[in-house]
Amino acid sequence: MRTQNLGYTRIGNKRELKKASEAFWAGKATQTELLETAAQIRLKNWQIQKNAGIDLIPSNDFSLYDLVLDMSLTVGAIPERYQALQNNELSLYFAMARGVQKEGIDISAMEMTKWFDTNYHYIVPEFIKDQQFSYFSKKAVNQFNEAKSVGILTKPVIIGPVSYLLVGKEKESGFNRIDLLERLLPVYIEVLKELFGAGAEWIQIDEPYLVMDLSVDEQIAFQKAYQSIREVLPQQKFIIATYFEDLGENTNLAISLPVDCLHIDLVRAPHQLDIILDNSSFKNSNKILSLGVVDGRNIWKNDFTNSLNTILKATKVLGSNRIWIAPSCSLLHTPCDLDLEKDEATLPAEIKNWMAFAKQKLSEVVTLAHLSDSTTAKKYFTHLSKNQVAIGQRKVSAKIHKPQVKERVKVLQESDFNRDNAFEIRQETQTKALKLPAFPTTTIGSFPQTTEIRQLRARLKKGELTEEAYNQLIEIEIEKSVRWQEDLGIDVLVHGEFERNDMVEYFGEKLSGYVFTQNGWVQSYGSRCVKPPIIYGDVERPEAMTVRWSALAQSKTNKLMKGMLTGPVTILQWSFVRDDQSRSETAFQIGLAIRDEVQDLEKAGIKLIQIDEPAIREGLPLRKSKWNEYLQWAVNAFRLSAAGVADETQIHTHMCYSEFNDIIEHIAAMDADVITIETSRSQMELLSAFADFKYPNEIGPGVYDIHSPRIPSTQEMIVLLEKALEVIPARNLWVNPDCGLKTRGWHETEEALKNMIEAAKFIRKSVQINS
Ligand code: GLN
Ligand code: ZN
Repeated sequence: MRTQNLGYTRIGNKRELKKASEAFWAGKATQTELLETAAQIRLKNWQIQKNAGIDLIPSNDFSLYDLVLDMSLTVGAIPERYQALQNNELSLYFAMARGVQKEGIDISAMEMTKWFDTNYHYIVPEFIKDQQFSYFSKKAVNQFNEAKSVGILTKPVIIGPVSYLLVGKEKESGFNRIDLLERLLPVYIEVLKELFGAGAEWIQIDEPYLVMDLSVDEQIAFQKAYQSIREVLPQQKFIIATYFEDLGENTNLAISLPVDCLHIDLVRAPHQLDIILDNSSFKNSNKILSLGVVDGRNIWKNDFTNSLNTILKATKVLGSNRIWIAPSCSLLHTPCDLDLEKDEATLPAEIKNWMAFAKQKLSEVVTLAHLSDSTTAKKYFTHLSKNQVAIGQRKVSAKIHKPQVKERVKVLQESDFNRDNAFEIRQETQTKALKLPAFPTTTIGSFPQTTEIRQLRARLKKGELTEEAYNQLIEIEIEKSVRWQEDLGIDVLVHGEFERNDMVEYFGEKLSGYVFTQNGWVQSYGSRCVKPPIIYGDVERPEAMTVRWSALAQSKTNKLMKGMLTGPVTILQWSFVRDDQSRSETAFQIGLAIRDEVQDLEKAGIKLIQIDEPAIREGLPLRKSKWNEYLQWAVNAFRLSAAGVADETQIHTHMCYSEFNDIIEHIAAMDADVITIETSRSQMELLSAFADFKYPNEIGPGVYDIHSPRIPSTQEMIVLLEKALEVIPARNLWVNPDCGLKTRGWHETEEALKNMIEAAKFIRKSVQINS
């Protein structure tokens, strides 16, 4: 039985890619140095996979920034504004990803959004009506050849033409991006032909859109695309990879495509196996079925007994020659290597023994293949019994199950989810209590996490700083930032989040039921990586988590200080979660812990409390039919966290990265008094949704993009605010950046905020508020 891997993590064990990219962007490393680091990571990855015994090892799954952006460069979908940069592929590439602002050039970055329901962000392709494509970047074939030159025959991976179009966006009206297929296909075919010519035996084409709701045109596009490809390349062997959901009503479509192997995700959607095995046209074909049985989205050890049953069932119907074993999706979404975790204090051995990271998952795939083969199974029996022991221990461990936590969730009542009064009444009360100016200015929470700040934390961890000394230094930073905000003239201050490594990890460390890793990094966007904490058991808050810092910050100023928390859905979404209970159950447990914290902040005199929920949309199921069920518990988990305070306490929430248009009524149902929201990269188009829906509460549409170092002018922010005023009542409008400032430097932050405050002042003068 053969094994394949769909894609591997590419940041490097120690985030080598991040470090090299950032050094290059800062002018501290040369292009050659960056490319050298990248090549080393690729080589190492191929060797790891080869040593693990994977049969089909991917290439072109590596990217310097993002795979969708790579595809845009491959097919020459380069927006007009970057034309002048075409002579240097790498500068062009990073300009598209990050924008450029230097030596009189000022070009904005392309939009970024989440890859399906993951926390990985891709660069959204931009299409115009007479979009032209041409074979531009030779990355796919270059990386294939690179592997070949070291003796590894890889399987090139590319995003399929239909999914590529569908993850993109029309930048003007009057056409549908799927209609561009005819123009796009010849370029895809050129790329595929070149890979064929270079000697690729198999090519993996990712078509994750096959698990989405498809229009008739989109279904036809799939057929057209693969028929055309097949006509030109009758010899080439193709895999179509699907993941993150079941094929559902696209099952017949997927099966009808003229390719040689179909990969399905059996972790997210185990039930689809029977459907495919029952499908006579699949059975009667000689197509291979690749079983995604090892979870590519989580860190738990595979349950071998379970997987072997699945494999056995499939083998009985199709025969072992037509079955491959694989992870459910690319291993991009899991950390590199569990063997790097050596700290018993944060990750006890008992719990570590329940886990597997990317490298371990490769071995799981290979072991499963051996166990499924009668000629090798015997040799692997000890692997199986060890696995069964670990799985069995996890099921009954007293570390996991806390009756008092489960009970608190069980007895929740409707009133626990509701504020005392409706928004209109609260707004009156808050206006009187807070006495804010019109168009109040604020920021989203974090200030630059400079190297010095991160070093403080590193020194604390190493024991070079006592907890006391560390706390004192953080206090100094907070006080400095309070003075700085007062000098700038911001209305609602924040304490700056200097004490936090990450908005989720910080809370994870304070809550019980969590463990942590030292090196469990996962790419979030570009060079940005996150280290999701791991929820293994029932979650509880042993003591207050943030009150000390918020109270301290408030004590240093007469202005209003906003408390800063991460919401239950985001904590859930950005952690690796339990696979032994429902997500909603875990979300309510976290919701209760945050509720306790909100109430403690209120008691400590904090009058505004922000509960960030940037991840609420990314938790949406991919299929619309499953949305309502999710939104109901997600919104309720947030309400549970927020509803324990008095009317005069103003609850804020913050959202970013996603398109929120389609869930706007549920965002309203969260009933936060104020929402700050990212809009600037998509030119405030989101606002029209808020207008159409008549979003009832206060709102701060981000007036500038913090993901790029460029400093926005006062004028452009005024324009955005004026646009916002066309659709949002003046009394409800706040002025703020579109996200936290932790990734920025102090200089650009100060310049940008100065301009923002000028813009707010201008608007205050020019607009009358009738309340
Ligand atoms: N309060 C957080 C911050 O400012 C919010 C971050 C986010 O939305 N991703 O960093
Ligand atoms: Zn944000």
